[in-house]
Amino acid sequence: MTSRAGRATGWLLALGAAASGCAAGGGAGGGGAAAAGRWRALPEVAPQGEKCDTGSYVVADRAAARFARPAVVDDPRVTTGRKRSRVAVLVYDPILECEGGKRMVESTAGVDPVECSHILADVVREASWGYLTYEIAEVIVVDGYPTKVDGFRYSDETFLAARDKQEWQPSPASYRAMLVENGLLEKVQRHAIDEVWVWGCGGMHMDEFAMYIPNRHARFGPTDNGWLYRPYDIPPECGRTLWMMGFNYEVGPDNMVHSYSHRVESMGALQFGDGVWDTKGRDDPWNRFSRVEMDAPGSVSEVGNCHVPPNGQEGYDYANPRRVLCNADAWRHYPDLTGTPRLVSSQEWGGTHFGYQKWLLEHLPKFPGADAHGYFNWWVYIANTDEELEELGPAKGR
Ligand SMILES: [Zn+2]
Repeated sequence: MTSRAGRATGWLLALGAAASGCAAGGGAGGGGAAAAGRWRALPEVAPQGEKCDTGSYVVADRAAARFARPAVVDDPRVTTGRKRSRVAVLVYDPILECEGGKRMVESTAGVDPVECSHILADVVREASWGYLTYEIAEVIVVDGYPTKVDGFRYSDETFLAARDKQEWQPSPASYRAMLVENGLLEKVQRHAIDEVWVWGCGGMHMDEFAMYIPNRHARFGPTDNGWLYRPYDIPPECGRTLWMMGFNYEVGPDNMVHSYSHRVESMGALQFGDGVWDTKGRDDPWNRFSRVEMDAPGSVSEVGNCHVPPNGQEGYDYANPRRVLCNADAWRHYPDLTGTPRLVSSQEWGGTHFGYQKWLLEHLPKFPGADAHGYFNWWVYIANTDEELEELGPAKGR
């Protein structure tokens, strides 16, 4: 499998890695809130396996694990229209008095977290053909460092000393603390905020993404891959799914979209692979979408995955001029995947990391309808996971 074994390279290391009750009636064109997601009616299912570092339960023998996927019933109110997701951008950008009052973003020659967050919102709106509008509802800039799960929190002095020696305090950051300390938990509970995009720098020890999905084991299959589901210590009191992205202002927008693509991989494997990402062993829609020539030299590539483009020969191979036969065009009329493969190289996405991630996201299915695998609009799983995002309705002039 291409995938997670190698994922601790790249910028994850730079980070030191390691409502119910909305009124019904939002349908397409209607505006207003969505109906309560159907997941709320599912009986509670207990996890199988052992808990790992990401907070996910993993099973030793996935083939022996039991799972009955809930029946998929198309719901146009969910799969079509324009959904609004309200984002809180949370930036850990300490003022370094010892460096003349410079902020960390400036000290690290970092990118602008707010501008980059808007770039991601633009990418997703375009890639989802307008299904998903991320609205930056709130920006919180913290003069300090994330509290870790053991209660430790750096000061400027202890952080800079650790960075000089590259000897970091090893605990991961606490997602619970990020929410509680910044008044976000209550906003999540009442649907005023739908996602939190956290920005920091190397040593702050947050992951590329984290999510809590209530009753996850009734909704998605058990897994032997602890990276697919990453609840860490996001509080179950959220009462709903919460996505918390972890972006690094030291490494720029290409890595930001990269992190989002990893999130896509997780939801693809959880929904369509029932918790299994194995492009050689399975032929469900996700395992097919992410199949690349590198998995079976001489074969036809499908679209690819975050680390390996369809013509890639190793991870992060975004500028390779090699041409391979690729079936990516067929994904533009999913679930009909018939078509004639054509030669594709990195010219397809401009040979850049950012370009490839955007190209990958643009190939995700986003159509009305459903079959037994799931909705034909994969963005539901990726970003409207509880099927409760507000319906924006048609764009109106004044
Ligand atoms: Zn990666």
